[in-house]
Amino acid sequence: MGLSGVRNVVSSSPWIGDWALPFALVVILAIWVPPWYVKRRLKRFVHHNRFQVCPYCAYVLAGLPEQHNCPECGHSYDLEEIRQLWVSFL
Ligand SMILES: [Zn+2]
Repeated sequence: MGLSGVRNVVSSSPWIGDWALPFALVVILAIWVPPWYVKRRLKRFVHHNRFQVCPYCAYVLAGLPEQHNCPECGHSYDLEEIRQLWVSFL
């Protein structure tokens, strides 16, 4: 059975036929769009705060010492390390 045979089986099936492609596209978009959207929002947020954002809880660390503990979650941080981490992640 060649490609046309597969196509015949797919299009003659009442369950997949016309639905297969749009359904597959919706599934792909549903899986792909939320992480993409979250990452885009996060990127804008982090850039807006000049990378001074706690990687553990997203607390804005602007105006705090270079090396300190995050006031929100208590993790110790180094602003330069955080900056490099965001740059490599985003
Ligand atoms: Zn934190």
